[in-house]
Amino acid sequence: MNLLYCPQCGSDDINLQSSRELMHSKITCWECDFSLKGKINEDDLSDKWNALKRKPLTEVSYRVISNNGNVSSIKKYYSLKSIEKIIKELKSDYPNHTIEIL
Ligand SMILES: [Zn+2]
Repeated sequence: MNLLYCPQCGSDDINLQSSRELMHSKITCWECDFSLKGKINEDDLSDKWNALKRKPLTEVSYRVISNNGNVSSIKKYYSLKSIEKIIKELKSDYPNHTIEIL
C-alpha cells in the first residue's frame, strides 16, 4: 500500500515497521520524526496514516543556474513549507548558484 506524505512536514520519506509477534506497527517520518503507532497490522495502520488530515503540498518548479552559466533541467519540489521558506532552503542548498523559480 502507498503511504501518503507526512501530515506534519510533507516529506515522503516514510518508514513502516511492524512486529507480528508483538502485534504492533509503527510509521515514522525520517524528516521530522512524526510517528503513528498502534497494536494493529500494517494495512490497518497504513489506512489510519493515509486518513490523517493533510494540507495540500506547495509545488515549486525551479532551475539552478551555476556561475559559469550551466542551467539544470527543471526540478520540482513539494513541501508543506511556504514558498518563501523553500526558496531560502534552495539558496542555501546551492551556494554560488542562481535559483530561477518558474
Ligand atoms: Zn514529517
